[in-house]
Amino acid sequence: CADSAMYLAKELGRNNYQFFTSELMIRAQHRYALERNLRRALVEDEFLVYYQAKVNLLTQKIVGAEALIRWQMEDMNIVAPNEFIPFAEEIGLIVPIGRWVLTQAARHAQQWRQQYQFDFKISVNISPKQFQDPNLPSFIKDVLDETGLDPNALQLEITEGLLMVEADHLGGVFDAIKQLGVSISLDDFGTGFSSLSYLQRFPIDNLKIDRSFIREIPANQDSVVLTKAIIAMSNALGMSVTAEGVESLEQMDFLKEAGCQEMQGFYFSKPLSVEAFEALLQKNLHS
Ligand code: C2E
Ligand code: MG
Ligand code: MG
Ligand code: MG
Repeated sequence: CADSAMYLAKELGRNNYQFFTSELMIRAQHRYALERNLRRALVEDEFLVYYQAKVNLLTQKIVGAEALIRWQMEDMNIVAPNEFIPFAEEIGLIVPIGRWVLTQAARHAQQWRQQYQFDFKISVNISPKQFQDPNLPSFIKDVLDETGLDPNALQLEITEGLLMVEADHLGGVFDAIKQLGVSISLDDFGTGFSSLSYLQRFPIDNLKIDRSFIREIPANQDSVVLTKAIIAMSNALGMSVTAEGVESLEQMDFLKEAGCQEMQGFYFSKPLSVEAFEALLQKNLHS
C-alpha cells in the first residue's frame, strides 16, 4: 500500500509528491496523538460506562442492560465509542480498555442484583481482538470471583466478523467461556456476512437483530419479513432473541406479535449514566 502510494505520488509529479507525503505525516501525527490520549485516558480514569436497559417485551420490566463505553476528557464533550474503539482495536489498546469495562460492568451489575434483589443480567461488548486474547477466559473468571457476580448474569456480545477469521483456535475460547457459565450473544445480527453455519458451529445463546432491520419496520416489507424469519429461526433453534434500536410503539408491537422476547432501544430508554440508570431501575421496579 505504501509502495503504491509512492508510485501514485511520483506519477502525479514533484509538487504532488510533497503534498502527498505531508498528508500522510499529518495522519500519522494524528494517530500518534490519539494513541497517547487513549493511554492517558486509561490511567487518568477518563472512561465511563453507560447502561442501556434491556426490557421484557411482554412485562415491560427491565431484565438487564448493555454496558456501553464513553470517553470524557476534562471539561470536554462526551466522546462516543465509534470515535475511538475501532482505533483502539487496531492498535491493541482495546484489551486493557475492554478489561476495564468488564470489571466496571460486573461491579455495577452485582451491586444492582443485591440492592434490588432481582435477576439482572449484564451484557458487555467484546471486540474480535479481545476475544482472541487467550487470557480472556481466565480474566473473566477473576472478575466473577472478585465481584461475586453469578456467571449466568453475564453475557458477552460478539460480532459476526469474529467468526469469519480462522475458526480453529476460536473453539477453545468459546468452550472455556461456556465452561464458566457465561453466555454469548451475536450482536448486529444480519449485517455481517452472516452464515447460518456459524449458528451450528459455535455455542450462541442469543441473537441481537441489528438496528438497520428494526429501523425500517413497518415501512420496508423486506425488513418485516427478515425480522420475522430471524425471530422464528432463533426460537426454533432454542436461542433467545433481542431486538436493538426499537424507537416506536409500532415497532414494539410488531416484535411482540412476531414472538420476540426482549428489546432495547430509545423507545424505552437511551444509554444512561450510572445515576440516571439507577433512577430508571427504581421507577421500573415499582411500576
Ligand atoms: P452496539 O453494541 O451495537 O450498541 C448499540 C448502539 O446502538 C449503541 O451506540 C446505542 O446507543 C445505540 N442505540 C441503542 N438503541 C438505539 C435506538 O433506538 N436508536 C439509535 N439510533 N441508536 C440506538 P453506542 O453506545 O454509540 O455504541 C456504538 C458501538 O460501539 C456499539 O454498538 C459497540 O459495537 C461499540 N462499543 C460500545 N461500547 C463498547 C465496549 O465497551 N467495548 C467494545 N469492544 N465495543 C464497544
Ligand atoms: Mg452490543
Ligand atoms: Mg448491536
Ligand atoms: Mg450496532
